[in-house]
Order: sequence, then C-alpha cells, then structure tokens
Amino acid sequence: MLHRVEISRSALLQSVEQYRSVIGRSQFYAIVKSNAYGHGLRHCVQILSPAVDGFGVNHISEAVQAYDLTDRPFLVMGRFDADEARQLLDLDASRITVVLSDIDEIRQLSELRPDLPFHLKIDTGMGRLGRRGSLLDRVFSYLEEHPDLRWTGIMTHFANVEDVTDQSFAEEQLRLFEEAWQRAQVAAKGRPLIRHAAASAAAMILPQSRLDLVRVGISLYGLWASQATKLSHLSLGGPHLQLRPALRWITKIVQINDLPAASKVGYGCTYQTQQASRIAVLPVGYNEGYDRRLSNRAYVVIGGRRAPVVGRVCMNMIMVDVTHIPDVHAGMDAVLIGRQELDGHSDEMTADAMAELSGTINYETTTRIHPDLKRVVVD
Ligand SMILES: *Cc1c(COP(=O)(O)O)cnc(C)c1O
Repeated sequence: MLHRVEISRSALLQSVEQYRSVIGRSQFYAIVKSNAYGHGLRHCVQILSPAVDGFGVNHISEAVQAYDLTDRPFLVMGRFDADEARQLLDLDASRITVVLSDIDEIRQLSELRPDLPFHLKIDTGMGRLGRRGSLLDRVFSYLEEHPDLRWTGIMTHFANVEDVTDQSFAEEQLRLFEEAWQRAQVAAKGRPLIRHAAASAAAMILPQSRLDLVRVGISLYGLWASQATKLSHLSLGGPHLQLRPALRWITKIVQINDLPAASKVGYGCTYQTQQASRIAVLPVGYNEGYDRRLSNRAYVVIGGRRAPVVGRVCMNMIMVDVTHIPDVHAGMDAVLIGRQELDGHSDEMTADAMAELSGTINYETTTRIHPDLKRVVVD
C-alpha cells in the first residue's frame, strides 16, 4: 500500500469530549460532509456514533452511505433535486431531517414524504441558502396555514465568525435569528421547534449561539477554524479546548535518483540542484490532493527530517530532496501531513501549514485528499 491516511480514533473522540465540556446542554452534531472533510465518511461515522447526538451532511447520498453504520439521525443541510429526493423513500423518518428554505421545497417534500421532519433555513446575513425579509414572511405564513407539516426546527449559518476577532456581524445575525424565532413560534402553533446556528468557531467563542444544537465540523478533526478563532477562544475565560489533529497522510518513496550538481528536476525545469543531490520520487500529486501550488515550497518528513519539495508538483508524483537524510531507500515512509518521530529525529507538516503554503484553508487541504486513498483507523 503506497498510501495510507491514518485517522486517530482517540483524537476524534477527544474533540467531542472537549466540546461537550464547554457547550453545556446543547446537542452535538458531527458534520461529516465531503467524506468527513477528507477523513473518510464511513470510518468517522463508525467511530463517532456512540459519542454524538447526530450527523450533519450536505447531500442525501452521504446519509445513505453511512446510514447502516449508526442508529443516530442525519441532518441533510444542502440542496437536492426531485430525482435525488427519491433516495429519501428508503430512509426512516426518525433518522433523517432535511433542511428546506422555500415553499416549493416544502411542498415537494410533503408530496414525497409528508412524515419526514424538516428544519427551515433562515438567511440572517450569509447570503447563501435560506430566505429573509418578505420572502421569509411568506414561508412562515405558509407554515402557519399548514399545521400538519412536520416542521421541527429553524436554523441559520454565520458568515463571519472565523475571520475576525470582532463578532459584531455575528451578533447582528443572532439578533435577526432571535426575531425569526419569535415569528416561528407563532407560525408553529404549538408544534415544538428547535433552533441552531453554531458551527465550530461560533460554538467555541460565542456562547449565546449554542442554542439547542451545535454543528461541529472542522474542530471535530482536531483543527482550528482559523488562527483568529483560536486567539479569541484563548482570550475567553473558562475551560480551553485541547484539539489534536486526527489525520496523518503517509506515502512511500518509490525511487531514489542520485543527480550531479546543476541537474534539472521536473516540468518546466524550475529546480536545479546546487550540488550532487539525492532526490526521492513520491507517488502523490495534485490528483491525489497534493496542491500544485506547493511546488518548490512545501516539505515532507522522511526519517524524522524535512525533505523539501523540489520542482513542480506533477499530476501523480512529486520529487523531494533527501540528500541530507542518511540511509534513504525506496519503500521508506514519507509523511505528507502529520508528525514523524524516528531515530531521535522528529518533525511535522501540519494541515494548517500546508494550507498556508498553498494559499488556502485547512478545510480545503484535508477535503482534497483523494477519496480513493485508503483510510486506516489507528489508536
Ligand atoms: C459545513 C457546515 C458546518 C460546519 O462548519 P465547521 O466550520 O467546519 O464547523 C455547520 N453548518 C453548516 C450549515 C455547514 O455547511
């Protein structure tokens, strides 16, 4: 096996436990969309099932893929069309809640599965799914006129918690959500509703956003939503979360090349050896999720030491300089994300550092790891 994406069971469970200790009585939903942010949907659902209250996914098909591994409910947060909605026919009403924004969608669901519960999405400032203003009023009126519908909650999503330490935009969103809540309770005519708003960052730093349920994605995997979120969290009093990254990505050296000084490496000849160099070839490239912008910038860890990426990242391969590492040979492990300790040497490439080097965020870095690479659960 040339690739191994190791998922730490204890790191995932530690995140849930840590969150539970700060969020109080809110329900904990683990967000496992996009192959659990690249960590492996089925493995993560299996590990987390005993520890969480439910799972959040983007699409019905993700709930279907993991449905048999847990008895917990799924919240389907993204859009689906009428054809795709037919997958709902096989699922139990106690196990699936969908998120809807508009009267048309509510009608469509009630024709297909009138027994399935749904939450109403409300736009309070994200400008994505959900309605606001007069369109929202119309949805509430419709719900009020149809007391038989299985409407069980309202939700919203924050636009600007991760990128700032000043939370005034989120506070305004919460104020609008509170207004919607007042209106919702009238429209519900006694139907019990729950409400939720917080993803990882808000759940961590905005206590008033925790409400009935928190939807935790990135932090579940032991990663901070951003540096600003980490700083904000640490500046608050009270218990502080201890997060440990749950993922390590490891490949193996497939060839060693001993090249003389002034040799070119890779497409475009963007790298030239300064001295006689030992260059290792690794079977990972942008197809596998190793970003091309890491060309000549990132490093991997081999034998507990840094091996810089030299030349351009190819579609399925990269080259790294291992001249300074003793006893390198084909078949040896190369750590792309994670720490490696070996023979008294230790170094690490974090998902955060890799994201920074490729001009993106940790969310994208782990989500891009190709789903075909084998995930293995450790500890
Ligand atoms: C992805 C997502 C989340 C989780 O966000 P994190 O920042 O990863 O915790 C929560 N709610 C909605 C609606 C989402 O789309």
